[in-house]
Amino acid sequence: MNDVISQYSVKEQPYYRSVTDEVALYEAAYSVRMPMMLKGPTGCGKTRFVEYMAWKLGKPLITVACNEDMTASDLVGRFLLDASGTRWQDGPLAIAARHGAICYLDEVVEARQDTTVVIHPLTDARRVLPLEKKGELIQAHPDFQLVISYNPGYQSLMKDLKQSTKQRFGALDFNYPDHEIETEIVSHETRVSQDVASKLVSIAERARNLKGHGLDEGISTRMLIYAGSLIASGVDPMSACRMTLVRPITDDPDMRDALDAAVSTFF
Ligand code: ADP
Repeated sequence: MNDVISQYSVKEQPYYRSVTDEVALYEAAYSVRMPMMLKGPTGCGKTRFVEYMAWKLGKPLITVACNEDMTASDLVGRFLLDASGTRWQDGPLAIAARHGAICYLDEVVEARQDTTVVIHPLTDARRVLPLEKKGELIQAHPDFQLVISYNPGYQSLMKDLKQSTKQRFGALDFNYPDHEIETEIVSHETRVSQDVASKLVSIAERARNLKGHGLDEGISTRMLIYAGSLIASGVDPMSACRMTLVRPITDDPDMRDALDAAVSTFF
């Protein structure tokens, strides 16, 4: 591995609790370098899963959090001006394609339309990335793989991936895991007892049932980990839950009362 890419290697094994057969399916997909789409709500383990898979496969991982201002140049690269003139700088996608990393585009639908166009030639048999401004065609390294995440809940008619893009990916569904598994994850990540972790998961389950009835998104595993970390550091559970589970997701007074009541049922 050369210097450019070695900084992206996943050195320590990330903790990942598998939920079904996603690890084996991903390995099979990687073996044929199939582009993958990880579908599911925010904070349910998609990023952790890719980190774990990159570590397991021994491949570097380049993660890009996409946002609405992101353009194709941010991904592919651009000419920079410096004292000696102009020089080309590869963007994260070009680095991954050139040197053989797994490139994870988190929430790619957020990025501008031109970004999804540049990934197309990398996702079919050609496996190329045209650097139009530079006049270069990168033939992707044999180890390169493209992975995107997609939250089906957020998409609107204005902002969705086109069918022609979706059909270029294999997809794995992610969701908040079953009670026992999520309890195990929260307890492992925060060091709170199984009992406290289980109560946190129960609060989340109540909130998730309110999704679509006044809540846009339920309480995620990530939020439970915030709550657990505060509790583990000595914060009173009720205050910890209010701060990390209730206040961030709603401003509606009735919904806050309903969620606070759910918290006080368990703590
Ligand atoms: P996403 O990418 O779906 O938004 P993340 O992968 O960042 O979510 O997950 C949020 C946090 O939840 C992670 O940092 C990790 O601590 C925890 N987590 C969720 N699912 C798992 C899992 N299956 N195994 C281990 N940790 C998990």
